[in-house]
Amino acid sequence: MWQPLSEIGRSESGGYVRHGWTAADRACRDWFAGCAARRGLAVEEDSAANLWAWWPAPGGGAVVTGSHLDSVPEGGAYDGPLGVVAGFLAVDLLRERGVRPERPIAVVAFAEEEGARFGVACLGSRVLTGVLDNPDNLVDPDGVRLLDAAGPLRPDPQALGRVGVFVELHIEQGRALADLGAPLALADGIWPHGRWRFDFAGEANHAGTTRLPDRADPMLPFARTVLAARAAAERHGGLATIGRVAVVPNGTNAVASTVTAWLDARAPAEESLDALVAEVAAGADATVTAESVSARVDFDPSLRARIAAVLGRRVPVLGTGAGHDAGVLSAVVPTAMLFVRNPTGVSHAPAEAASDADCAAGVEALAAVLADLSGA
Ligand SMILES: [Zn+2]
Repeated sequence: MWQPLSEIGRSESGGYVRHGWTAADRACRDWFAGCAARRGLAVEEDSAANLWAWWPAPGGGAVVTGSHLDSVPEGGAYDGPLGVVAGFLAVDLLRERGVRPERPIAVVAFAEEEGARFGVACLGSRVLTGVLDNPDNLVDPDGVRLLDAAGPLRPDPQALGRVGVFVELHIEQGRALADLGAPLALADGIWPHGRWRFDFAGEANHAGTTRLPDRADPMLPFARTVLAARAAAERHGGLATIGRVAVVPNGTNAVASTVTAWLDARAPAEESLDALVAEVAAGADATVTAESVSARVDFDPSLRARIAAVLGRRVPVLGTGAGHDAGVLSAVVPTAMLFVRNPTGVSHAPAEAASDADCAAGVEALAAVLADLSGA
């Protein structure tokens, strides 16, 4: 399953660059269609550009699993694809075992989950569910509109209406399972999180001739904000990262005229996230704009209990600071997530890892869950 995927969008560093509506994305979509075709599963694309592979059954309320195929810039091999690969392999296992589901089963690949090209995470699932009802005017860094790259993406109540339950399997994005010595975990929820843009204004000038007291250098409040974000995260038990900066004019011998920085912040509870961001913003001497904020997600407790019973052993329960399509779907249908151990704990980078044995354990677990939920 990995071999044909392993070269798609791979860069020289060994990382993956698979942004929505690029050649790499199209190759991933073709791979998905091929996997479905080889299994005799009908492929449908909903009006939000998400791909579905259907194993039909007479009942309603489909049992859906899957994840995404796009990546961050220079991402790892497993974030996203593991959930799609595991979905297809779980279908194979069920068929090998002669399982006849009473409810349809589908494997889904959500579009542009990472938001790496158009700046909106979980783009496909947000449009599908109507959280984002008209994304036409989103633009990529080259100024290309989403409408022109992807066509008009719209909510799809009909496609969504077929989903009875959604279970996403995902590589763990930290090293909790490695520390616990366990291959799998069940998620309890997703931390509230968001992205804020900080615009620092200054005045462009010559680095060699402008006296220090005469400067309005936006790099200084920017630098203080980076440190303040770290301190606020520590105080509030959350995470804060400034990993993206745009400097104008970005010259070695020029005092910058503006610095724009993006703060990514997450915390276990909404109060602590609000306090963290308010504290950073208050001391920043910048114009602060919330670009996207996601509330805390608690996955369906009865579904979690049912899955824990199916897995038949004590499975660790983890929260996560990362957003997922499952978090978006959870507002509409009962939703759960399984995590597979990542021995390096590294995520969104090529060092992300998973052993074949742990991936296989994930497939086994997912197959058992799908069988149970589909009434087989
Ligand atoms: Zn992911």
